[in-house]
Order: sequence, then C-alpha cells, then structure tokens
Amino acid sequence: MTHSLFIDGSWRAGSGGRTGDVFDPASGTRIGDVAFAEAADLDDALAAAHRAFAGWANTSAYERAKILRKAASLARERAEDMAQAILRENGKPLAEARMEAGGAGDHIDWFAEEARRTYGRVIPSRQPNVEQKVILEPVGPIAAFSPWNFPVGQLVRKIAGALAAGCTIIAKAPEETPTSAMLLVGCFEDAGVPAGVVNLVFGVPSEISAHLIPSPIIRKISFTGSVQVGSLLGEMAGKHIKRATMELGGHAPFIVCEDVDLGTVVPLAVGLKFRNAGQVCAAPTRYLVQGPKFEAFLDGFVAGAEKLKVGAGTGDGVDMGPLTHARRIDVMSELVEDAVARGADLKTGGARIGNAGWFFAPTVLANVPEDARIMNEEPFGPIAIVNRFETLDDAVAEANRLPFGLAAFGFSKRTDRTHAMATRIETGMMSINHFGLAAPETPFGGVKDSGYGSESGAEGIMAYLTPKLVSQLNG
Ligand code: NAD
Repeated sequence: MTHSLFIDGSWRAGSGGRTGDVFDPASGTRIGDVAFAEAADLDDALAAAHRAFAGWANTSAYERAKILRKAASLARERAEDMAQAILRENGKPLAEARMEAGGAGDHIDWFAEEARRTYGRVIPSRQPNVEQKVILEPVGPIAAFSPWNFPVGQLVRKIAGALAAGCTIIAKAPEETPTSAMLLVGCFEDAGVPAGVVNLVFGVPSEISAHLIPSPIIRKISFTGSVQVGSLLGEMAGKHIKRATMELGGHAPFIVCEDVDLGTVVPLAVGLKFRNAGQVCAAPTRYLVQGPKFEAFLDGFVAGAEKLKVGAGTGDGVDMGPLTHARRIDVMSELVEDAVARGADLKTGGARIGNAGWFFAPTVLANVPEDARIMNEEPFGPIAIVNRFETLDDAVAEANRLPFGLAAFGFSKRTDRTHAMATRIETGMMSINHFGLAAPETPFGGVKDSGYGSESGAEGIMAYLTPKLVSQLNG
C-alpha cells in the first residue's frame, strides 16, 4: 500500500519512492509497506494545512460539528475494517482491536459536540461603555505524532480535537501500523472535510519532527510516545515557541489495601496488566499489596497470568497477542534478567514464547528490589511487579518515588484510604476501586515526566484553542 500519504486531499506515494516494511507481529513476516514522506512532501502538507486553515477556522462550529458527526458515523460503519487492520499490524486480540476501533466514533462525536460549546466570556469593565470579551480561536495548524500501541485510539483524539477547534493538522501516524490510520483518515475525507484540513504522513520520525516543528506554519505540537522522544520534541517546541501537549510514558502503581475483596480485584489486576500485551502507557506495573493480603494476591495474580491464552490475535479465546516490535522482546528479557540478578523472585513467565512472531510470556516478578531496572523504567510489555507494603504512607511514598505520573490505581473499602490515595498520589489520572480511564468525556494526561496537557474531556478541545481578548469602547 504505497499510496499512504494523504496530502491536500489526495492519496499519494512519497516523492522519493522510499517505503518502510510493515510486519505481522504474530508471525514476524513482512506483510506490506508504507510510503515515506520526503521534505518536499512535508512542504506540500505544510502549504496545504496553511491554506486550508483560513477556511476551516472560519467554518461555523455548527457546520464543523455536522461534518465531524458524519465522520463519526463512517468510523462506526468501518470499525470492523479498522479492527482487522489493527489486529494484523499491531497484533492485539480481535476483541481488543474491535473495542479500540469501535470507540473511534464516540471520540469524534464527543469533539463534534464540544465544538459547539467553545464559549468565550464577557468581563465587566472598569470604564463605562467598554465591552471586554474573551473569544476562543483555533491555535493554527497542528503537527501531531501518534504511536503504534493504539493506532486508531491515539490518532482519533488528536485529529478530532484539532478539527473540532477549527485547526488543521498534519498527523504523523505510526509506520508500524499504517492501515488503520489510513482508514480513519478516510472517514474524515469521505465526510467532506475540505482538502488540506487533515493531512497524514509516515516516514522517518526524526526527519518529520525536525522538519515540521520549526516551520512557522505549525502553531502546536501534540505527541504521544516515550519520555525520551517527548523531551526531544519538547525542546524543539520550546526553541521555536510552539505550544505542546505531551502524553508520555507511565509506571502506574496499583495499590491493594488489606481490606479489599481479592475475588474482584485480582481478575481486574490481571486484565489491566496484560491488555495489549502490556503496551499501554496507563497500564499498572507496580502492584503494591498490603502485608496481610500479599501472599493471596500474589498467588491469585500468578494463577491468572498462567491461565491467559497467548497467541495470534485471530485465534479463538486468545487473551494476549504478541509484542508489536521485535526489539521489545530483548528489552523484556533484559529487564527480567536484571531483576532476578538483583534478587527478585520470578514467579512465572520471563521468556520469549517460540521463535515465530514476537510473543513474550505473561511475567510476574515478586519482591523486586528498588534498584532493579524494572522498578524504574517503564516496561511497556507483559511484566508485572508484585511487592509488599505495610502502611499506606509507605505505598504512597513508593507510588510517588518515580518521576512518572500518568495513571494510578487504588483499591480499598475505606474512604479515608481512598481519599488519601486520591489526594496524595502524584498522578494525572487516579482510578479507584475500578478501571475508569480513557473515556472520550474524561481528560487523559499526566504530570511530572509523564507529560503535560490533556486529551479528551472538555480539556481536550481547549488544547487546540487560544483565548483572544477583544476590548471595545462603544459609542
Ligand atoms: P520510541 O521512543 O522509539 O518511539 C516512541 C514513539 O515516538 C513512536 O511512535 C515513534 O514513531 C515516535 N518517535 C520516535 N522518535 C521520534 C522523533 N524523533 N520524532 C517524532 N516521533 C518520534 O520507542 P518505541 O520502541 O517505538 O516504543 C517503546 C517506548 O515508547 C515505550 O517504552 C513507551 O514508553 C513509549 N511509548 C509510549 C506510548 C504512550 O502511549 N505514551 C505509546 C507508544 C510508545
């Protein structure tokens, strides 16, 4: 599929003819290619996003919302095609791929509705006959970078948020999983979004960011990915005075107090860890369990991990698919070896499964010392740490020890404990006694090294708007 760039309303190949390989992670075989953009293609995308901005920003919010709602309907109609593409290129089980693709319409609809609620305000003046109002204007053309772990879920928030606000966008979607991103962009195209408003590119990520971010046409960056790359792009955004939203890595604590019912907590704990083979920025990594429940939780968690059926996402009853990248297999092995060498107990898993495809066994490490790499680095894979704590103060201190602050989970029947966790843990998102993250209507984002800004929720559209004061003397 070499016509994978969408620039100024047309699908095309890269002008230099360069392409990248696309793999099936379940077999490790090459299944396609993706066109790479050259500087000339990026210049065309910049010119298109610039040209289209005036028209789109001046299209009424009512009209933009109508077009977005049409895109949402198309996304629902085409959800199965997107799910099959996610399954093939990302590797997650079909049920997960369907849930991701099926949610795209809801995200677009949310932003369509928010477009109509971008209210400004009137500020009482100090002088008679002066009217002071604040109006919200679209920031301008956006450069967005979205990753491969949720090829549709991450991209849709950026495109729909930008378009709802009246911005145009150049999205660099993941080279590993291009097809579902193309199908998603096709929904906006067929809904009648004017040429140049949405542009889709693939290529060498560092070339694309180095070209787009300094361009005076681009007014804002939105990036989802690792802390390292986020820091690099943030530096560029700072140098060129560009607004930025950064959704970076996490290392979520999952605190289990001694008063909980393990019968409900353990299955949820297992499900959250191994969803998308652990390649989720908000996935729990450090399970911190209060002394009296430690052994029972650990036994239940290990049993749950061992019961998971690992295989190609197409298989019947498969719970966990492969890792999306071959290179992540080595990282997983290194993290396990390092933890064990430092004294951690490997309770289950710890190794690659087979040699076709990129499968890594659901892995549980217990009693992991603080100096182990995995206690400090985001695994972004199917490895869980289960450690013991005695007092809630200890658990909160451990939760806050790392520079990450994306998601945290807390379980207790006592409201003094849940309140303490909700208020004292340094995190952008806190989920208590259930899993409650990532709905279109709730803000998604982190603090500390996990980034800044929110996607989704009422905050999601604000990220693409800028306030303008209009002060007018009447009469
Ligand atoms: P990576 O750091 O090489 O890439 C992460 C993402 O950033 C990819 O989508 C990549 O295309 C993009 N990227 C890389 N260099 C870039 C550049 N110079 N300019 C613009 N974009 C660039 O890591 P990886 O091996 O692909 O993924 C593993 C790590 O990435 C994990 O450890 C995890 O922390 C992070 N990650 C986070 C998320 C998330 O949802 N926050 C998603 C995917 C990956």
